[in-house]
Amino acid sequence: IHLTKVTGNLDDCACDVETINAFNNDLLYPKLQTLLESDYFRLYKVNLNKPCPFWTDHSHCGVRDCAVKPCSPYSAEANEQLDECEKAEHLGAVDVSLSEETREAVLDWSKHDDEAERFCVVDDEESPDAQYVDLLLNPERYTGYKGPEAWQIWNSIYEENCFKPYTVPRPLNPATFYSTRTFYSWLEGQCVEKRAFYRLVSGLHASISVHLSARYLLGDNWFERKWGPNASEFQQRFDSELTKGEGPKRLRNLYFLYLIELRALAKALPFFQQASFQLYTGQLEQDQKHKEQLLDILQLARSFPLHFDETALFAGDREEAAKLKEDIRLSFLNISKIMDCVGCFKCRLWGKLQTQGLGTALKVLFSERQIEALPKSRTGWPTFQLSRQEIVALLNAFGRVSTSIKELQNFRSLLSEQQ
Ligand code: FAD
Repeated sequence: IHLTKVTGNLDDCACDVETINAFNNDLLYPKLQTLLESDYFRLYKVNLNKPCPFWTDHSHCGVRDCAVKPCSPYSAEANEQLDECEKAEHLGAVDVSLSEETREAVLDWSKHDDEAERFCVVDDEESPDAQYVDLLLNPERYTGYKGPEAWQIWNSIYEENCFKPYTVPRPLNPATFYSTRTFYSWLEGQCVEKRAFYRLVSGLHASISVHLSARYLLGDNWFERKWGPNASEFQQRFDSELTKGEGPKRLRNLYFLYLIELRALAKALPFFQQASFQLYTGQLEQDQKHKEQLLDILQLARSFPLHFDETALFAGDREEAAKLKEDIRLSFLNISKIMDCVGCFKCRLWGKLQTQGLGTALKVLFSERQIEALPKSRTGWPTFQLSRQEIVALLNAFGRVSTSIKELQNFRSLLSEQQ
C-alpha cells in the first residue's frame, strides 16, 4: 500500500510517516511493550456490565471470540472456570500466574488510590460491577463482531459526537457512510479542534481495523486455533475499491492519533515525575523499576521533535478554549456511553479502554498549564490529577496505536512480497 506522507495543515503537523515509523518501531514500541507487561499496567478496572443507555440491548453476539463470559473475580473457583471462559481468555479473574503478593495487592489498590491521590471519581471504577481485567489474557484481535450492530455503533460515534456533520442515510449503508463530498466540505469548515476530533475517532477506527487484520483467525479446528496477519483483509479495509480511495486518509488519521497521544505523554511528564507518584502494586522494588521505565518512555516522547502547532490546537482564546474543552469532554462522555452498547465483550473492553485513553490524552493536552505548575513535592491540593484507571488506559491506548504503526510495517512487507 502506498502511504502518502503526513504533511501540511491536514493535521497541523510537519513530520513524515517514515520519521514516525523509525521512532516508533525501533525506539518506543519495544520499551512500551515491556512496560505494559508489568502488573500495574496489565490490570485494568472496568465495568463491562453497564446497560446500553441508547437503545434496547441486542443479544450479545454469539460468536465465540467476542462472547467472553466474565468470571467472578479473585476466587480459586473463578480460576478453575478457565474453560468456561474461553481458555486462557477469561475476563475478570486475576491471572493465576501473578504472584500471590500482587494478587493481594490488587485487592488493596482502590483503597490506596483513593486515599493517596484522591483522583477524580470515574463511575466505572466506583461501581460494584467493576472488575479487574487482565489485558494480556484478552488481546485485541479479530472477533467476528460485524454487520449492522457494529455499524450502528460506529455510526452513532461519528453522527452523534462529531458535531453532527449530516444525517447518515437510513437504513445504514456503510458504502455511503459519510464518505461524501458534503462531509468533507463540512469538515473543512470546522475549527481546527473539531476537525482534529473527527480525525482522532477515524484514527481509532483505523487502529481497530489494523489490529483485527493483524491478529485474524487464520485456522480453526478442534485441536488448534491459529491467529495471524491477514493481508487481504487489510487490503480490503485500506486499499480496495470499497474504501473509495479513503484508505490512505484513514491511515494518516491513525498517525495523527499517534502524534496526539505521544504529545500528551510528553506533556504529562511533570505529573509522573512527582516524588509522591508511585506505580503502586505492593512490590516496592518492581514498582520503582517500572516508574523509571515509564519516565524513560515519557522522556523519549518529549525528545520527539515538535509535531504540530500547539498554539493552534487546544489553546486559543481562553473562553473559546474552555467551551471547546467542555464540548470535547461531553463528546467523550457520550462516546464512552455508546461503548456500553457494543455487543461483544472483548470489543467493548478495548473500545472502552481506548476511548478512555484518548479522553485522558485530551485532558492532559488541555491542562498543560496546570501540569507545568505542579509542585515538585506536593503540598496541599494538587491542581491536576489522574486516576489509576486513567493512567492504565492512557498508556495501553497508546500501546495499541504504537502496535498498529508497527503492524503497518509488517503489512507493507507482506504486501510487497505478494507483488
Ligand atoms: P466497519 O469497520 O464497521 O466500518 C463501517 C464504515 O465506516 C465503513 O464502511 C466505512 O465507510 C467507514 N470507515 C471504516 N473505517 C473508517 C475510518 N478509519 N475512518 C472513517 N471511516 C471509516 N472487531 C474485531 O474483530 N475485533 C475487535 O476488537 C473489534 N473492536 C471493535 C470495537 C468497537 C468499539 C466497535 C464499534 C467495533 C469493533 N469491532 C471489532 C468491529 C469492527 O470495527 C468492524 O465494525 C467490523 O469488522 C465490520 O467491518 P466493516 O468492514 O463492515 O466496516
